Amino acid sequence: MSNSFDSRASRRDFLRALSLGAGATLAGSTGLAQPLSWLANDLAAERKLGVALVGLGNYSTGQLAPALQQTRFCQLAGIVTGSPAKAAQWQKQYRLPAGNCYDYKTFDRIADNPAIDIVYVVLPNALHAEYVVRAAQAGKHVICEKPMATSVADARRMIAAMEKAGRKLSIGYRLHFEPHNQAMMRLGQAQTYGAIRHLAADNGFKFDSGSTPWRVDKKLSGGGPLMDMGIYCLQGCLYTKGQVPVAVTASFTPETGTGYFKEVEAGVNWQLRFADGSVADCRTTYADNMPGRLRADATGGWLELAPAFGYGGLAGRTSKNDGLLNLPNINQQAAQLDDFAQCVLLNKPTRVPGEMGLRDVQLLQAIYRAAETGQPVSTKDVVQLIDRR
Ligand code: NAD
Repeated sequence: MSNSFDSRASRRDFLRALSLGAGATLAGSTGLAQPLSWLANDLAAERKLGVALVGLGNYSTGQLAPALQQTRFCQLAGIVTGSPAKAAQWQKQYRLPAGNCYDYKTFDRIADNPAIDIVYVVLPNALHAEYVVRAAQAGKHVICEKPMATSVADARRMIAAMEKAGRKLSIGYRLHFEPHNQAMMRLGQAQTYGAIRHLAADNGFKFDSGSTPWRVDKKLSGGGPLMDMGIYCLQGCLYTKGQVPVAVTASFTPETGTGYFKEVEAGVNWQLRFADGSVADCRTTYADNMPGRLRADATGGWLELAPAFGYGGLAGRTSKNDGLLNLPNINQQAAQLDDFAQCVLLNKPTRVPGEMGLRDVQLLQAIYRAAETGQPVSTKDVVQLIDRR
């Protein structure tokens, strides 16, 4: 793409101005956000941003590290792990310099490593807060996996630490960068099939001896399937309706007799109520494999994703057979990572900031309170934030 910046030096000056904050103003005031992507290309050509994965479990190993081989604006540059064997294996497999590999004690030294721009926290839920705060203190931008935290206080502490550091924080909400879910946001929010009167969402899997034990250990997980799988149903209903609910009711589903669910729920059914009287009925469980579904019934038709929330194989239909949900499946994690890298490069806000993570922690806690008390719980005071399309 041609541009008026005819020397690398003047381009670099302009980019420096962007990184100091002028970019947001310029992009916002001129509507230049899209054309400015050449700037990100330009910066990426000089050096892709370096990402360090903290916690090399299933998601880092199976999804994030492979996705970071496909990204344009960032790359896997470092790791943080408690296992020397894993460190050696990852160094070899991904050609990582030994100096970019940390354990949980040496992690804070990442502050002195200019090859790491972004720290991606992929630990059990209750450990997110500590590592996000430490990454902030190290002066790094951060992506934190979902759910952001196991308490509202932790989520607020994480946001405050990132603000103090002047660095960007996003939550690992990959579906905001996925075409089928983006279409649900667009079509739902634009009321393409009329006003949405009812939503339904479910998501779950059968927890068994092969599942990671911390998921049923409350001090590490903060809760059961609601924290892990139900959060997708919650998110889906909010971004399709385009509103934050005003109240919730909920009930736990019975223990299944497996012995796994001593500390966390086996399942939850809950209902979100929106200000216009419409409702969303949601279900999540660790007792059954559910393919994951997100459906909206509106005054003039319906739209549905099934499967809705997986890493691939998503499919959608509408009542009008108009093909608007016949969309490609993509590498969601690569899209999410590249979007955040561009936010950093161009000093743009992320669509999935810490405040959205806080909103969801507030709503998850409200659902637990409603299930525990059997009473409706008001959610009028939660963060009012929607990914507007
Ligand atoms: P996992 O159990 O496979 O990996 C967790 C890693 O943390 C392991 O490498 C483990 O060794 C390490 N760890 C460090 N300290 C630990 C401790 N005290 N106890 C237990 N493990 C410890 O889990 P995962 O499935 O990779 O999930 C990690 C995070 O990623 C969770 O927050 C989860 O919700 C999230 N996740 C997100 C998605 C998504 O699609 N966005 C998918 C899977 C997991």
